[in-house]
Amino acid sequence: MKGMKSLADLQTKAAKVSTKGVPPALRDPARPALLAWINTAVQHAMPLNEVLRRLRDGEAAEAIGRTAIAPQLADPNGPAARAACAPGCAFCCILSGDDGGTITQIEARRMHQALAPLEGQLDGRAWMPKACPSLDPETRLCRAYDARPMICRSYMSSNVAACEVIAGGTPAEGAGVLGAQALYLAVLMLTRNLLKGITRVPTYSLSRIAVGAIDGESLEDALTAAKHGPRELDEEVARQAAVIKR
Ligand code: SF4
Ligand code: SF4
Repeated sequence: MKGMKSLADLQTKAAKVSTKGVPPALRDPARPALLAWINTAVQHAMPLNEVLRRLRDGEAAEAIGRTAIAPQLADPNGPAARAACAPGCAFCCILSGDDGGTITQIEARRMHQALAPLEGQLDGRAWMPKACPSLDPETRLCRAYDARPMICRSYMSSNVAACEVIAGGTPAEGAGVLGAQALYLAVLMLTRNLLKGITRVPTYSLSRIAVGAIDGESLEDALTAAKHGPRELDEEVARQAAVIKR
């Protein structure tokens, strides 16, 4: 990747990276978190090209998101403690839009690797046409559970009935993502700003990757078909910003 000569250059640029597109409420902690991830990579003597590749693939955003979600899941007074979620309760895996959610390249690759061996088996669409193909249509358990992306890890609800309504395409109160998802998206946006002119930071459609993997598409073909245009991330972050304002 051209345009960045050293890790020191990257650290300097990251310290003052543009926050364009990132909602004010997410600028801090997103920028310090991204800088800390880069500083840790430098401390581990990671080569510049490897750091840039991991940033492009969304590894920083995912690592920061996963670190943030752990205390939110464990909070006895937080939304996770009130969640009605249970194995086999899968209305949230009926993907009402065509996209299914924004995921990074590392998440897309991992999903494809988990699902490709299931090619030819009945999938979630045998239960509901818009269900995620990762679902087992009988048990309604996620068959890519360990590989599931941040959007799936952070979505929960205190009201199963609301989830059923949302699955039918109508908004309802009671379900949503934990704050770690917004931080993950903000870090991804900052990463995109940081690598502007060096490499593009792609995002992908969760649904399309899962469909491609289960239907036997190669990884490269599935990535090509599932790749978002640049505006998808802007729109996803704007949706999160609207939620934060409420
Ligand atoms: S988010 Fe809703 S549908 Fe999904 S497991 Fe939780 S309660 Fe069930
Ligand atoms: S990957 Fe798993 S958790 Fe995520 S939408 Fe698909 S079935 Fe549900």
